[in-house]
Amino acid sequence: MKHNASGNTPDQMGAATNAVWGGESVKYPYNATQVPIVTSAAHCYDDIDHWYNVALGEAPGFIYSRMSNPTVEALEAKLCALEHAESAVAFSSGMAAISSVLYTFLSNGKRVVSTKDSYGGTNKIFEEFLPRMGVSVSLCDTGDHDEIERQIAQGCDVLYLETPTNPTLKIIDIKRLVKAARSVGALVIADNTFATPLNQQPLSLGVDLVLHSATKFLSGHGDVLGGLVCGAEPLVSQVRHYREINGAILDPFAAYMIIRGIKTLALRIRQQQSSAQIIAEYLQTEPLVASVNYPGLSDHPHHAIACEQMKGFGAIVSFVVHGGMDTVKQLLPQLKYAHCAGNLGAVETIYGPARTTSHVENTLEERLALGISEGLVRISVGIEEIEDLIGDLQQAFAHVRKQQA
Ligand code: PLP
Repeated sequence: MKHNASGNTPDQMGAATNAVWGGESVKYPYNATQVPIVTSAAHCYDDIDHWYNVALGEAPGFIYSRMSNPTVEALEAKLCALEHAESAVAFSSGMAAISSVLYTFLSNGKRVVSTKDSYGGTNKIFEEFLPRMGVSVSLCDTGDHDEIERQIAQGCDVLYLETPTNPTLKIIDIKRLVKAARSVGALVIADNTFATPLNQQPLSLGVDLVLHSATKFLSGHGDVLGGLVCGAEPLVSQVRHYREINGAILDPFAAYMIIRGIKTLALRIRQQQSSAQIIAEYLQTEPLVASVNYPGLSDHPHHAIACEQMKGFGAIVSFVVHGGMDTVKQLLPQLKYAHCAGNLGAVETIYGPARTTSHVENTLEERLALGISEGLVRISVGIEEIEDLIGDLQQAFAHVRKQQA
C-alpha cells in the first residue's frame, strides 16, 4: 500500500510540523484526534468476494494482523512522511528490520559489501548468519572509501551502510558510494538510526532502502522496541512479503508508542544535538579523556562529509578514557543524571561502554579488531539542561582524578 496517498504529505511542512502532522489520516474512528490501537488479530467480512479482493490486495482493508494492521500502517505512513518515502514496513525490533531486509535480498551465491563498524548485531549477521547461507560478505574499513569502491567493483548485489556508525561515529560518504553501487547494479541499504530523518535523508542521496531501529530516537523514551524499512514500493513490497511469512510485524501498541514519540522528535533532537556538541567540546578539555568522537567537531576526520550530507550531527558522542576499563568502572557510577544502560536515543542521558552496549555480541578480540577499545564510552545525550550534564561530568571526572592521584 502506498502510504502518502491518503495522509498529509511532507512537501509543504517544516521538520517539526512534519513530525506532528506528517502521514496523519484526516479522520480517525469516533472523531478521535489520536490514532486508535487496533488489537484485533483478524478482521471479519460478510461479503466473501470483498474479503477475497482484500486478500488479493485488490481492495483496501485488513485480513490478519501478521500481514498488516491499521495502527502499524499509521506508523508506516508517518515514517514515509519523515523520510519522503513511497512506502514503509514496520518490524518488532530494529534487528528484525535489518535481518528481514538482508534475507529478502540476499541468498546463496550473492555478495554483500559493507563496513566493519556497523552495529554489533548487524555485524553478527554479516559474520555468522549470511556466510552460513552461502552469501559472500566483504567488510571494509569504514573510513577507507577507496577500498569500499574497490570491493564494490569486484561485484556486489547489496551495499549496506550505517552512518554515523555505532559507537565510533564515523561518517560514510553516501553519495560517493551510491555512485559506485549504481555502476554494478547493487541495491543500497542504509541504517539511519543515529542520524534520524531530521538530520539525514538517505533516499534523497540515492539510497534504495532506509531502515531504523525505532527503539531509539524515533520512539525517544526508551520504553518500546521497533524497527522500520522504507523506500520505493516495488522494493518495500518484497520486504513486506518476507515479514508476512516470518511473522516479525510490530505490535499495534508498540506502533502507537512510536507514533506518539515521533511527534516530539524534532524538539528532542534539536535540544539533544545542541547539548551533544557542547559535551563533545568539553570532553576534549578533560585530562582523563584520550580522544572524542563526534562528527560536529571540526577536527573529526569526516567532519566535511558530515557537513555535506547531514543537517545536524546527532545526539551520540563517544570518548576514550586513559586507563581503559578501570577508569570506566570508576567514572560511570559517579554520574547522577545518567542511566548506565544498553540503549540510546531516549530523553534521559545514557552512558555505556561498547562491551555492554553496541558490541555486547562481540568478543574482546573482535572489538579490538574493530578498533573499539575497552576505554570507549558512548553517551546518548538526553534532553536535560546542558549545565546539569556538564556539571555532572565535571564532578565525576574530578572524583576519578582524586581516586587515581
Ligand atoms: N541499528 C543501530 C544503529 C543500533 O544502534 C541498533 C541497536 O542499538 C540497532 C540497529 C538494532 O535495533 P534494535 O535493538 O531495535 O533491534
